[in-house]
Amino acid sequence: MVLPELKISLPDWVENFTVKVGNVHPQIEDRMRFVIELSQRNIEHQTGGPFAAAIFHREGNLIAPGVNMVMVSNCSILHAEIVAIALAQKVLGRYDLSNGGTDKYDLVSTTEPCAMCLGAIPWSGVCRLICAARDEDARKIGFDEGSKPDDWIGELERRGITVLCDILRGDAVKVLEKYKATGGTIYNAGSHE
Ligand SMILES: [Zn+2]
Repeated sequence: MVLPELKISLPDWVENFTVKVGNVHPQIEDRMRFVIELSQRNIEHQTGGPFAAAIFHREGNLIAPGVNMVMVSNCSILHAEIVAIALAQKVLGRYDLSNGGTDKYDLVSTTEPCAMCLGAIPWSGVCRLICAARDEDARKIGFDEGSKPDDWIGELERRGITVLCDILRGDAVKVLEKYKATGGTIYNAGSHE
């Protein structure tokens, strides 16, 4: 039995866009604007769902972008956050972005993490999570975010990960609404009743 290789390759347009806007985003809002623009382009190019994320160094250097690639890759784990974390770990050549707690990296995401991505965050080595749209905004257009602890923010903060919510939330919600309005696929897995 020959099993296929698992490879994560961002859509071609992401590199061109990243080169165009540059790699340094000093303000938190600049970083969020970058990922919201990525999510917008992801739906325009029909390369995935209306979600994007990126890992930035605390000083604002982009380390790796990520977009949702569930449908194009036929892979349910390729949420934007997972893609950004995995690529950043490749770029830096280590599984712990914090390098034993000495380096500070942010995960910036257009939407609060779902249950899977929430689980991945503490193992990634990021020290800050910055989100725009809320869980309820994603649920409103039909996406299943999974079961998360009510105090998921407190759970991350107890592990030393700062959480900032609602950064440019309105802009991210507009992208979610556009996806829904233009007939974007809501790709939840089948129910298990
Ligand atoms: Zn997720």
